[in-house]
Amino acid sequence: MKYKKNIPKNKKSSYVQKIFNIVVERNKGEPEFHQSVKEFLASIEPVIEKNPKYEKAGILERIVEPERQIIFRVPWVDDKGILRVNRGFRVEFNSAIGPYKGGLRFHKSVNLGIIKFLGFEQIFKNSLTGQCIGGGKGGSDFDPKGKSDMEVMRFCQSFITELFRYIGPCTDVPAGDIGTGAREINYMFGQYKRLKNSFDGAFTGKSIECGGIILRKEATGYGLIYFMDEMLKKNNKSLKGARVIISGSGNVAIYANKKVSELGGKVVAMSDSNGYIYDPEGIDLNVIKEIKEFCKKRIHDYKRKHPHAEYVDNSLDIWKIKCDIALPCATQNEIDEEAAKNLVKNGCYAVGEGANMPCNSKAIKIFLENKILYAPGKASNAGGVAVSALEMSQNSSRTHWDYEKVDRKLKSIMSCIFKKSTMKAKEYGDEGNLVLGANIAGFIKVADAMIAQGIV
Ligand code: NDP
Repeated sequence: MKYKKNIPKNKKSSYVQKIFNIVVERNKGEPEFHQSVKEFLASIEPVIEKNPKYEKAGILERIVEPERQIIFRVPWVDDKGILRVNRGFRVEFNSAIGPYKGGLRFHKSVNLGIIKFLGFEQIFKNSLTGQCIGGGKGGSDFDPKGKSDMEVMRFCQSFITELFRYIGPCTDVPAGDIGTGAREINYMFGQYKRLKNSFDGAFTGKSIECGGIILRKEATGYGLIYFMDEMLKKNNKSLKGARVIISGSGNVAIYANKKVSELGGKVVAMSDSNGYIYDPEGIDLNVIKEIKEFCKKRIHDYKRKHPHAEYVDNSLDIWKIKCDIALPCATQNEIDEEAAKNLVKNGCYAVGEGANMPCNSKAIKIFLENKILYAPGKASNAGGVAVSALEMSQNSSRTHWDYEKVDRKLKSIMSCIFKKSTMKAKEYGDEGNLVLGANIAGFIKVADAMIAQGIV
């Protein structure tokens, strides 16, 4: 049965509004968490109105409250012998459809509200993948930038000396995120193994020799472009010949760039938190990888190899460059209303989120009003966690999968997510609105599992 098309937009049902008020009241000083809950509640409102069972079972009251929040001290000693103390977080948000799953972010900006917004998004993203994984997220205000390998190791060991008691392959399986790559995951896995005396799949994103899966490093970036490719094809467009801008120059950005180039597009700009580099001839990805993956330097060093490129000392100005496709792959709220207007004015016709919540709500509104093809992160960046779940399967079966198998599965999962989100958007009367479609498709599976499990 189709849902009535003429549901007045912005007419908040009292239930949805009540839940949002509770969230704001109970989670003071957490604007990112409020933002992600608000966007989600607005999308699923028609489902709530159509299915009174969700209100009757108190699904929204429960779904916005993490099952467990762990906050802990992380003491470690730097190379000069000075004692440092950071704060560690793990928010185990929802386990209705599987063990908590989500990355650990190590960045100086990390606080409880940011981890909660990421954990909340993760519930629905993981559900969309069709795999049996719940939602969680964690991290620390520790910044690995500028630290020696030994300092990073000591921090990671201290972090896990507390967190190990809460995680495990059937309980909670952390992975990487900003500031946390294979080096950090390997150190944490090593300490976990030592404390638990168990070689199990309690972490994903490990390097291959530690039991990691091939293609995990590439998965989020590749998945984003597989999703974008589906979305473009459905709208009679193509990556071939497209001019693309990618923010960030970390894990997601680098592999999004690689796949764009493989599919015939040209990436002309990339950034880091200091500024952006514009190379009209197309960004030389080998140079970016050398700077970012191996030397941990800044993006302005690109000019040493390519003096014709332009460096601008403001990362957010990247959205002023003319492009066909914009891929925000750095961090939350990097595209605001003004940036969105610039993109539209300059002829951008598609935006795909590699990062989590990189576009604020005003920017999303502008994209939808201007019929820009817009891929929300919950759907378009799910490739990373999808391959992480494959790593869990691989670890359980004590095998190693080959590249073709993993790539085939990644492509098929991204295609299914696109189809599910498209279908739900159409069913609920807003064809092409993938924010609505992804939120609804992700929500229904989790909510039905919660109802089936009773009041827990
Ligand atoms: P990385 O740490 O590898 O890279 C992050 C990049 O973003 C760096 O280039 C960094 O620059 C830049 N950046 C960080 N903060 C800012 C800022 N405030 N302004 C401008 N640039 C900034 O992280 P990932 O690539 O792994 O993650 C990027 C995004 O993708 C995050 O939102 C993450 O949550 C999301 N994501 C990641 C997944 C994964 O598998 N890794 C999965 C799904 C989503 P600098 O070096 O200067 O700090």
